[in-house]
Amino acid sequence: MSAHHELHIRDYDPTTSFINADAIWATLNDHAAPSRDQVLEVLVKASKCQGLSLTDAAILLQNPHADLDAQMFDLARQVKDTIYGNRIVLFAPLYVSNHCANSCSYCGFNADNHGLKRKTLDQDEIRKEVEVLLGMGHKRLLAVYGEHPRNNAQAIVDSIKTMYDVKLAPGSNIRRINVNCAPMSIEDFKVLKTAAIGTYQCFQETYHPDTYSTVHKKGKKTDYLYRLYAMHRAMEAGIDDVGIGALFGLYDHRFELLAMLRHVEVLERDCGVGPHTISFPRIEPAHGSELSERPPYEVDDQTFKRIVAITRLAVPYTGLIMSTRESAALRKELLELGVSQISAGSRTDPGGYQAAEQKHDDAAQFTLGDHRPMDDIIYELVTESGAIPSFCTGCYRKGRTGDHFMGLAKQQFISKFCQPNALITFREYLNDHASDATRDAGNALIDSELGKMSPARRRNVSQCLSQTDEGVRDIYL
Ligand code: SAM
Ligand code: SF4
Repeated sequence: MSAHHELHIRDYDPTTSFINADAIWATLNDHAAPSRDQVLEVLVKASKCQGLSLTDAAILLQNPHADLDAQMFDLARQVKDTIYGNRIVLFAPLYVSNHCANSCSYCGFNADNHGLKRKTLDQDEIRKEVEVLLGMGHKRLLAVYGEHPRNNAQAIVDSIKTMYDVKLAPGSNIRRINVNCAPMSIEDFKVLKTAAIGTYQCFQETYHPDTYSTVHKKGKKTDYLYRLYAMHRAMEAGIDDVGIGALFGLYDHRFELLAMLRHVEVLERDCGVGPHTISFPRIEPAHGSELSERPPYEVDDQTFKRIVAITRLAVPYTGLIMSTRESAALRKELLELGVSQISAGSRTDPGGYQAAEQKHDDAAQFTLGDHRPMDDIIYELVTESGAIPSFCTGCYRKGRTGDHFMGLAKQQFISKFCQPNALITFREYLNDHASDATRDAGNALIDSELGKMSPARRRNVSQCLSQTDEGVRDIYL
């Protein structure tokens, strides 16, 4: 792996919040009913793909003109297309442990849920889960852990090492593991980094301090500021890709979106680079969590689409992640509006992939909206959205991460690396895992994509595809 870029972290004060709730509400209230001209002005700015301010986002969020809303959705589609093309990165979550000492009122893993069967996978069980996932064709994982002494930094490192070590056949191994676990000290993040993780992901859940206190009743997670500065500490420890998010449904979505954009601004200011990804979990019903049955600020589908579209316009270069929690129909729409990564074929209970045949939902964190197997999801992506499913992990393994990644001339970068790598990894999937129908549809899509490339690039990529067809695995640019 080539050398990663050094981040230069500015001095920051982790005892002072960078989220000023009053200021965020003032921005929203000052633009509660924007004029057509104000909205149009923001849309013109957004079309330049250079991002938006918090004020701009407040204007779009509260735009009362329906026709301009439609225009905004179109623009989000264009921006997504220009920057990401029609690729969609696929991954699977791997829930390693539902042991948790915290008591988040929305989560099924909360320590007060005595009805939950607790499970932390041992190395052998982890290996078996990874074997199932590799068999499905996955190459990228998101490892998930409850906050518990069992899931300390070293235990997480050990589990990740086991995941990377599983090999079903040459080239059939997990190539990138992102991690979603509780925030750590800088020292522990340094330990975590030794596992060669991809993105460190942690959601603030709600940026609203009072709501945060209400829903986090006990355990370490009650400390709002410790969580708020998790990404600063992770980057100080040398982890250069971080992923943020808010759990929509806990508090007013307009506040959460502006606060999340503020988090992006502050990371850029203090660490020189914003988050690699932003996630949009929406509260789903979870066994053993009362709040999740009736979220206090439920976000409907239309509002959710606006949240995704505005984020795409506000931070055009940041990956947007949609989890398996959303239904197939909605995921399809959100993809067009700017989502760039989705999970497929997911289970949210530790050991759930091996036990997939049995009904296992009671140990799960929440109920899933999309139960379809990976091949169905891929078939739908190809035939209905014309999207190229990508399993690419090239950038991370070539050291193109953090500020390095963000700084490159994007469009050139994407046609040079992302698009070819997407096609090559997709071909691997088609050859090794796809049903006949998916393989036919997928190969037709690959051919049409090759047709759009310059002759030199087409030659280069065709060569990689031929090698893949001859059995060479893990080719990437
Ligand atoms: N324990 C770690 C933490 O809380 O950061 C990581 C694991 S936790 C299971 C991962 C994420 O699941 C949380 O950050 C939260 O946003 C999400 N989550 C929890 N309960 C949920 C629910 N009922 N519906 C949707 N997402 C939920
Ligand atoms: Fe535990 Fe995380 Fe669930 Fe909270 S969200 S109960 S910390 S697993």
